[in-house]
Amino acid sequence: MRSTTITIHPDALTHNLQVIKNKLQPTTKVLAMVKANAYGHGIEAALPALSAADGFGVACMSEAMAVANALMVAKPVILIEGVFSQAEWQLAIEKDFGCVVHHNQQLNWALQNQPQATALCRTIWLKYNTGMSRLGFDDTTIIDAAKALSDAGYRLILTSHFACADDKTHPLNAVQIDKFNAALAQIRKFAPNTQASLCNSAGVFNFDTVHYDWVRAGIALYGSKPTAQHQASELGLKPAMTVSAQIMAIHELTKGQSVGYAALWTASNDCRIAVVSIGYGDGYPRVIADAHVGIIDKNNQLQHCPIVGRVAMDMLMVDISNIEAELGATVILWGTSPHIDEIAARAGTIGYELMCRLTTRPTRQIKTINESL
Ligand SMILES: *Cc1c(COP(=O)(O)O)cnc(C)c1O
Repeated sequence: MRSTTITIHPDALTHNLQVIKNKLQPTTKVLAMVKANAYGHGIEAALPALSAADGFGVACMSEAMAVANALMVAKPVILIEGVFSQAEWQLAIEKDFGCVVHHNQQLNWALQNQPQATALCRTIWLKYNTGMSRLGFDDTTIIDAAKALSDAGYRLILTSHFACADDKTHPLNAVQIDKFNAALAQIRKFAPNTQASLCNSAGVFNFDTVHYDWVRAGIALYGSKPTAQHQASELGLKPAMTVSAQIMAIHELTKGQSVGYAALWTASNDCRIAVVSIGYGDGYPRVIADAHVGIIDKNNQLQHCPIVGRVAMDMLMVDISNIEAELGATVILWGTSPHIDEIAARAGTIGYELMCRLTTRPTRQIKTINESL
């Protein structure tokens, strides 16, 4: 069988959640972001490992349904983009999902059709655009929106999203924090119990003073770097995913022979090439420069070897001249080493994207880090 495998490490997810919690006051809650199928890790694998989270954040209704179905113990599930129609608002009430309200249409649906006082969805995550210019009410409308919801009996969590939290020194961070605090103070004059949520993973690590009532942590749970200044391991985060494949053919090449599509790479010396059973059809990036893989050699040691030539749909080629590796050897595309953030940098992207764009073709399994290298 073609052995191309995504291994999820529940122990790493649990550990990373604890690393995040250690950064917070005990009163601050963690909304574990599990949108996009838990950043590609799979809801079924991720949820049990994140049972210490206070709630789960998803993008939309279909994801909320999947999370609710997979949850063993009922926990708040929050639609971070809110609903897309009146009918969906009705469904959110029925299922009791929490919702973001970020524009007037959603506000009106909420005002026209109100859940019971005790319902979770009686608390609205009211989104304020403090500088990201993506979702949210602006400076001129946020207070009125809060007033309307509060007057109708809704509880509020004022929320906003950082544009540059990964870069601690970026001047937009202070602008966003100031705006957020100003609006929060104003809203609390008429709705004193209003809670607040500003930080994503990067905010958790970079902005200690604005964790408020809820943080919304995604990437740090999965062990990829949330901040520009630190590697994930420096923050104590462990990769929650290993992507592996195997050597499916080995060729001895003589100087001058080329490898792969467009004959992009030519052997400058006699060399040995391994064909590895993974490609962009599995989600490995095609556009990559100077990337390497980890290979378990004959002596069970992890060796690093460069990818040569173009990544194809099902396969990629690696120069194994300097190691002793055999047919069938395990190849690590990312995991503990190489780390997903190294590969992302070589592909001109970020760990988030590599996790999310894995396809359904690889086999999936769940194992602790130690069980799997
Ligand atoms: C995805 C998302 C997050 C989590 O961001 P990370 O950088 O992965 O921690 C937080 N807030 C909102 C609104 C999001 O959409």
